[in-house]
Amino acid sequence: MRYSLKRNAKVRNIRWTEGSRRLACIENLPLSREFKSRLITSGVFPQCLHGAEAELINERTWFPLRAKVAKALGFRCTRNPYLAGVATTKRIVDPLFTAILNGLRLCRLIAKHAPQHIDNMMHCFGIELPRYKGTVAILAERLRNLQWSYEGDGIWDFRGARIHIFMSSPRHIQFLLERSWLNYICDKIRHRKYLGNVSSICRMNLRHHSELSSSQKALVDFQSCGEQFTNDAKKYFGDVSPTCPFCQNCDDSRLHRFEECTFFQPVRREFPLLFNNWSSLPMQAKACSLWPEPPMYDQFLCLLHRIPFPHVDRLEDDNLHIAFTDGSCKWQKYPDIRISSFAAIEVLGNGSSAVIHSGLVPGQQSIYRGEILAGTVAVMRFHHVRILRTTRPSSRLPRKSFTATFCNSPSTFLRRRGTYGRCSLWHSLRNHGLK
Ligand SMILES: [Zn+2]
Repeated sequence: MRYSLKRNAKVRNIRWTEGSRRLACIENLPLSREFKSRLITSGVFPQCLHGAEAELINERTWFPLRAKVAKALGFRCTRNPYLAGVATTKRIVDPLFTAILNGLRLCRLIAKHAPQHIDNMMHCFGIELPRYKGTVAILAERLRNLQWSYEGDGIWDFRGARIHIFMSSPRHIQFLLERSWLNYICDKIRHRKYLGNVSSICRMNLRHHSELSSSQKALVDFQSCGEQFTNDAKKYFGDVSPTCPFCQNCDDSRLHRFEECTFFQPVRREFPLLFNNWSSLPMQAKACSLWPEPPMYDQFLCLLHRIPFPHVDRLEDDNLHIAFTDGSCKWQKYPDIRISSFAAIEVLGNGSSAVIHSGLVPGQQSIYRGEILAGTVAVMRFHHVRILRTTRPSSRLPRKSFTATFCNSPSTFLRRRGTYGRCSLWHSLRNHGLK
């Protein structure tokens, strides 16, 4: 990988110059911000971040590229580049974040195609300060910077939510990585006015923008990047007095207009309920339209991730059993808060039934995982079972989703790591469950 630091830096500089040129071209295109963000992630980052997952790059080197990304998205240099890449587009557009994602993908690819290196990679994750910094060690260092901690055996932990680097689904890994990235951004923006005690940022995938007109959206975008349009901000850009243009006797600011300005007193009287709610909003939402995560959200995720994998005793007989399995999900549309559960029920001969196992799904929540877990529980219980389910693609769904949910490469990885309980699960699901 790294053959020479000097030569490496030279090649990287050439790539980054080319990347900056492309970003400058995008800046002038008449496209929406969302489209530009897609163009950057698909057209600029693959070229200029080529190999960035395998080299140590310090913060000062990342910064110019990040600033140019913010500029290409249509923001002036006064806005915060960290916030520009996070709070205004549906995907996070940041070179360092993309490099971390690429590093993760690379590790999973190696695990898939060269499973003999898995043990070595897990060993590299565990070392805090390795002498030789290869792709895995660099990825581990970047994850530690985002406050992830390594629990061993491929499991990383962020504030109680856990992922297995090779076996968790890529989407779930990305979801938790985005949370940790937002947490990292909070540390980076605390120096700004009004954001001194920003606790967390919740993007809600920008769903709260959907009902706004395009000009309102642009206004919110600029504000959430730290741009203020009141005179306290304008005074830096020319001969503008910092006093409020409406009441003329106080320093102007967004909060002044909403809370104190005598000029707007009639409006406050008109909408008393609205302004009662205003006073209870957190400062970051009032001043910058950056909303915090709901209270106790960390604990909620942590609890979901600490639910143990169901344990079922195996019934030692060769009779054919019939089981009905089902999964369910509440608030399926909202990945942040949805909760799924499962149940497996044995159908008995005399028309009655007995519950084999039921409960909440551990870890990532989705109806597919609920369905699969229910089927898995039935397969764990009996040697010979016929599973009835309500969903139609009963044979295709476990095969595809099990692959996607529990492991990227079940056949190679799980067969090698026989200690995993899920190994036998996968085989029995394939041998019995898919009949
Ligand atoms: Zn005023």
